Amino acid sequence: MDFELPEEMRMLQDMAHKFAQAEIAPIAEECDKEERYTPEIRKKGAENGLVCAWVPEEYGGSGVGILGNALVTEQVSRVDMGVGLNVVAAGFGCEAIYYFGTEEQKKKYLPPVCRGDQVSAGAYTEPNAGTDVAGYGTRAVKDGSDYIINGSKMFITNGTVCDWMVCQCITNPDAKTHHKFSQTIVPSDTPGITRTKIHGKMGIRASDTAEIFLEDVRVPQENLIGEEGKGFHQLMHFFDITRIMVAAQALGISQGCLDEAVKYSKERTAFGKPLGAFQITMQKLTEMAIRVEALRNLVYKAAWSVDSGHPDFHLGAMAKYYGGQTAVFCANAAVEIHGGYGYIEEYKVQKWYRDAKILELYEGTKEAEIMTIGKVLQSR
Ligand SMILES: Cc1cc2nc3c(=O)[nH]c(=O)nc-3n(C[C@H](O)[C@H](O)[C@H](O)COP(=O)(O)OP(=O)(O)OC[C@H]3O[C@@H](n4cnc5c(N)ncnc54)[C@H](O)[C@@H]3O)c2cc1C
Repeated sequence: MDFELPEEMRMLQDMAHKFAQAEIAPIAEECDKEERYTPEIRKKGAENGLVCAWVPEEYGGSGVGILGNALVTEQVSRVDMGVGLNVVAAGFGCEAIYYFGTEEQKKKYLPPVCRGDQVSAGAYTEPNAGTDVAGYGTRAVKDGSDYIINGSKMFITNGTVCDWMVCQCITNPDAKTHHKFSQTIVPSDTPGITRTKIHGKMGIRASDTAEIFLEDVRVPQENLIGEEGKGFHQLMHFFDITRIMVAAQALGISQGCLDEAVKYSKERTAFGKPLGAFQITMQKLTEMAIRVEALRNLVYKAAWSVDSGHPDFHLGAMAKYYGGQTAVFCANAAVEIHGGYGYIEEYKVQKWYRDAKILELYEGTKEAEIMTIGKVLQSR
C-alpha cells in the first residue's frame, strides 16, 4: 500500500493552490459582499487546466482523473469556496454527458466548458422536491422529433450564467420510478426559459444560484442523454461522482479553517501566553487536524477507487457525509479560536463559517447520505 501521491499529482496540487492564492484570494471578500459571479476567474482557471480537470484530454480536459480533480477542488476551496466554485463547478452537469452521452455530444459540449468558453449546469432539484428525487415533476412530452418541456427547477448552480443545462424530466409518466425519467441537454437561450438569480444566500455568495422556469421549451430528441427512461439511474451515478467533489470542497475549507486557526493561535496572546499554549485551544486544533486527516483519506480513497476502475461509491457517500460535518465543525472551531474577531468580516473565518453549512445541504443532505450509506449496510 502506497499513500504517497505521484509527483504529477503533487505538482497539480501545488499549481492549484498557487493559482487560488494569486487569483481567488484577492477578490474573495468583494465577490462575497456583492454576490458577484466572476467569468474571468473561470477563464483563467480553464487556461490553467483547472476547469473540468477530470475530463480526458480527447474531450478538452486535463485528464487527471477524479483524484486529480479532487486535489484541484481541495486546493481551490482551501482558499475560498465561493469564488472557487466559479472554477471547479463551471462544468457541473458535464458528468452526465461524459458517462452516458453519445460521442457526438461529448465532442460538442465538453471542450467549450473545459476551455472556459461555456458554463454548464445540472438542473435536478425542483421547488417541491429536493431529497425526494423520485418526486420531480418537470415533464418532457414527445412532439415529432422534439421534446416539449414544462416545469421548474430550484437552486440551480450556474443557473443564470450557464450556456446549457442537463435537465431531469419525466418522459414516461406511467412507468415505475426507475424508468420514468430521462435527462436532456437544454440550451439556456431556448425560448420559454426564464432564469432568476437567487439573492441573499448565507454563504458561497460568489456562486450563481437560480430558479429556472421552463414553459413549452422545445429541444430536439438528439439532446437526450442515453436512452429514454434511464434518467433516474443516470442521476444516481452522477451523484456517486459529484459527491466526491463536494467532499473535496469540504476537505479544502476544513484545511483552510485549520490553517487560519493555527496561525491565529500563535499570534494572539492572552494571560501573557499565545492562545496555542492553552490546552483547550490545543484540543480544538487537534480535533480539527484529526478530522481533516480522516476526511482526506476518505476523499482520496473514494476518488482513487473510481480512477482505478473499482469504484467504491459507498466511500464517496461517507466522504460527503463526514465532509459536511467536518467543515461545519472546523469553521465553528476556527471562529471560536478567533474569539470576537472571528465574528467580524475582516477575518476570513466568519465567511467560511457561512460557506461551510452548504456542504451539509447540497448534493444530498447529510440525512440523505445516511439513507444511502444505511441502505448499503443493510443490503450486505
Ligand atoms: C446554494 C445551493 C446550490 C445548489 N445547487 C444545486 C444544483 O446545481 N442542482 C440541483 O439540482 N440542486 C442544487 N441544490 C439543491 C440541493 O441539492 C437541495 O436543496 C438538497 O438536495 C435538499 O433538497 P430540499 O432543499 O428540497 O430539501 P428537502 O428535500 O425538502 O429536505 C428538507 C429536510 O428534510 C430532510 N429529509 C427529507 N427527506 C427525508 C427523509 N426521507 N428522512 C429524513 N429526513 C429527510 C432533509 O435531509 C432536510 O433536512 C442547491 C442548493 C443550494 C442551497
